[in-house]
Parts: sequence; structure tokens; C-alpha cells
Amino acid sequence: MESLLRDGLTALGLSPDAAGPMCRYARLLLERNRVMNLTAITAEDDVARLHFLDSCALTAFADFQGKRVIDVGTGAGFPGLPLRLAEPSIKLTLLDAQRKRVDFLREVCAALGLSDVDCIQERAEVYAAAHREQFDIAVSRAVAALPVLAELCLPLVRAGGTFLAMKSVNCDEELSAAAKAVGVLGGRVARVSDYVIPGTDIPRRLIVVEKRCATPPGYPRAFGKIKKNPL
Ligand code: SAM
Repeated sequence: MESLLRDGLTALGLSPDAAGPMCRYARLLLERNRVMNLTAITAEDDVARLHFLDSCALTAFADFQGKRVIDVGTGAGFPGLPLRLAEPSIKLTLLDAQRKRVDFLREVCAALGLSDVDCIQERAEVYAAAHREQFDIAVSRAVAALPVLAELCLPLVRAGGTFLAMKSVNCDEELSAAAKAVGVLGGRVARVSDYVIPGTDIPRRLIVVEKRCATPPGYPRAFGKIKKNPL
């Protein structure tokens, strides 16, 4: 796994030195996954490619250096924690609603000496209402359809910042459905970029949303309203 990570990081123009800590994280993930549900991906090389290198692929689309980054619905830490290992100057917040996942993230951060990473157990719409416009970049993978996800993530991003939504290549419909929500929340879809996960032939899609102006008061709404009546 380590050589695969080293090669993938090098291919992405990142330091291969992050491969060691990523391996320790991956082994902890697979060990804890035997007793709690953290990931459906269980082969080491698949974890390296589909979790770690997929996460690090985001560095090709935004400048993360020194940025305040929040990963919304991070689960077992993806994409936020591999990004922080690849770019140590990131000021990272990992946010998830599930206690056991956040406990796992705290354990990983302690094991890797990442004392400055904030691991928060909270629902995104609740956290966003109290931390409006406080991040330079919000990232999210596999959490919700884009019209819903935009309302969870965009209020957290400052004007001039960026929201990066990791999606499958079959997301045309949800992208069209999200146009209104993104605009109402102060954003604009700046770019839709397809990439291939390093070391695989698996295509993925990144939706790059620019935050143009502050999100109007009143958003995000309570989750029941977001889900029932997406913008
Ligand atoms: N982002 C990770 C990944 O790609 O491996 C985890 C994806 S997992 C399918 C979705 C995660 O989003 C779960 O851990 C869930 O608890 C979290 N989640 C869903 N809705 C949320 C919300 N409103 N606030 C915070 N976390 C949420």
C-alpha cells in the first residue's frame, strides 16, 4: 500500500512523505472497521486508491495552502484528512453527525499527532447556522444530492471562498437541479471537472462552486425543510 500511495502522491505533484502517515491511518481504519461500520472498501490497495488518492486528487483543483477547510459529512475522514496529511498547512475541521465516526477521527488524529485538527460531532445544518462564512473551502463527498448539499455547505464558506462537491460522472441531473439553490445561497458553479482517480481508470467529477456573496439570513433551514423542499 505504501508504494502505491507514494506513486499516486508523486503523480499528483504532492510529497510522497505523506504515504507513511496515510498507511498508519488506513490500517487503523481497517482494524476499527472490523467492529464498527466505517467503510465498505476493505482491500488495502482499494483503500489507498479509492479513499486516499481520490481525496488528494482535489489538490489539482484548488489551492489548499494555509486555508481553513471544512469537510462536511466526513465519515471516516474523507476527503479532509488525507488532504491535511498531503498539505500540512491546512487548518482542518472534520464534521459529521455520527458520534462513533467522530470518536474514530479523534483516535486517528491522536495517533498521527494531528492535535490541531477539529473533529466536531454535529449536524451540518446546525453547525453551519452557528459558523457562517468562517471557512475558505468546504469539501464534501457522498453525503447528499447537490441541492441539499449546497444548503449544508455554502453558508459555511466566506465570500470569495470555494465549495468543492465530489460527485460521480452521472450527476448531470442533480447539477441542473442545484442551479437555483447555489444561486440563492450566494454561489455560482464555476467549473465542472472530470478526473480519473490516480492508479485506476475510474472517472470522477468535481463541482467547483465559487462563493460570490454572503448567504442570506434564514439559510441553512432545519434539515426537515431542506430535505422536503430543496431550494
Ligand atoms: N465523506 C465520507 C466518504 O466519502 O467516505 C463519508 C460518506 S458517508 C456515505 C456520509 C456521511 O455523512 C455519514 O458519516 C453521515 O453521518 C454524514 N452526514 C449525512 N448527513 C449529515 C448532516 N446533515 N450533518 C452531518 N453529517 C452528515
